[in-house]
Order: sequence, then structure tokens, then C-alpha cells
Amino acid sequence: MIPNVLDNSATSLLVDLQKDFDISFEPKDIDFCGVFQKSGKATIYYNPKIVNSASIAHELLHVWLTRFNYSIGDHIYQGLRSDKKLNMVFNKSLCDYITNCCDHFKMYPKFINLGYKPADFLKNSMDEKASIKDLKEIKRLKQKFCCSYNSKAINFYIGSLFSIFADHVKNDYTQHHEYLKQLDYELYSIVSDFWNKWVIFDIENIDASNSDLDLTNSFIDNMKKWVKRKRIV
Ligand SMILES: [Zn+2]
Repeated sequence: MIPNVLDNSATSLLVDLQKDFDISFEPKDIDFCGVFQKSGKATIYYNPKIVNSASIAHELLHVWLTRFNYSIGDHIYQGLRSDKKLNMVFNKSLCDYITNCCDHFKMYPKFINLGYKPADFLKNSMDEKASIKDLKEIKRLKQKFCCSYNSKAINFYIGSLFSIFADHVKNDYTQHHEYLKQLDYELYSIVSDFWNKWVIFDIENIDASNSDLDLTNSFIDNMKKWVKRKRIV
């Protein structure tokens, strides 16, 4: 059942997407909205008590991005699945999180064009997306008395850096960037290099010279170089 709160912008987006996707709505006891997509079908979950048009539009924009048929987190996950060191870092939840950050960055301008406010883009939309206090929990990526690197710390490092980059609000992350650079400058450069390319990546014109697979493959290669001669536990 389509929630009855949809305004004109969300309704016209829905009508447009219905040309390509079979979209259904399901009420659920959740604290925000969510979408599950598989082979041309999209199910949008919403809580009838708190749903609003902006949160449905957000989920519809995830469906809109599916039209461009790119793969980021999933490609990284598949590409590193058999890598004995990096599969400890790039688990499914980090890869899904990377996808989400990349998606949010590309759909935000359209969200604003539809007439919605920055504060309605996400739950706790205006908050800092990573706290310096949490980041400082990563004392080091390398364990103190041996030469092995901690996979959980690297996972947290990469996830946090993606959240900072993907923030649609201009929060001040100067300290966060300094701290992460100081922890590992090379890792910082690999993630930021990927992100800078993602920022200018044209999702609407994907071809051999503008390929999402080239982008993720170069990230995977750089990660493999970084991890070479390192022990990950
Ligand atoms: Zn989202």
C-alpha cells in the first residue's frame, strides 16, 4: 500500500520509476525507511507512524540509482572475497556501507532539487558522521609489540573515512582528517583517491572510458599493494 503522505515530488518520482521497476510498499515497525531491491523489484519499508514524503523520496532515489547499473561495494566485496588478508577487512557490512556512502553522495543533489531539506535526508541528518572521540579509539592500526595489523581497526578506519567524505552537511572534519592521515598516510591516500574519483564520476554516462569497474579495480589494486608484506590479524 502506498503511504498516503507522498507529496507531488515523491509521487512523480515514483510514477517515473514505475516504468522500470516493480515498486511495492510495506509497513514495518522500524525507526526509519529502508529499501530492498532485487532483479527489477523494489520493496520500500516504512513505519506508518513516522513516515514522511522526504524519507520515501530518499528510498526512491536509491531505486533511481539502480537505473545506472553501477556496482561499488558489491564489486569490492566480490573482488576481495578470496584475498586471505583483505577479506578480513572488507566484510559484507563494510562493503554495503561503502555502497551506501557512494549512493548518498550521488543522490543528494536530486533530493535537494526535488525540494527537500538537508535535515530530512537522513536520520540525525545534521550530526557529525564520525566523532573524533570514536576515531581516537583506533590508537594504532599496527599492534604494539608485533608487526601485525588489526583488521577491525582498518575496517573502522575505512568506514569512518567514507562517512566523513559522504557527509552531505558541511561539518568541520579538519581534526578527523589530520588524525587519520597521521595514523596511516598511505591508507588515507588510497581511500581519498577513490573518493575524489567518485565525486567526479558520471553515473549517467558509464562506458569504457568512464567505468565503475575500473574505478573499483584500481581501489582493489591499491589496497592489495598496501597490504603486501603486512600481516593482518
Ligand atoms: Zn539511503
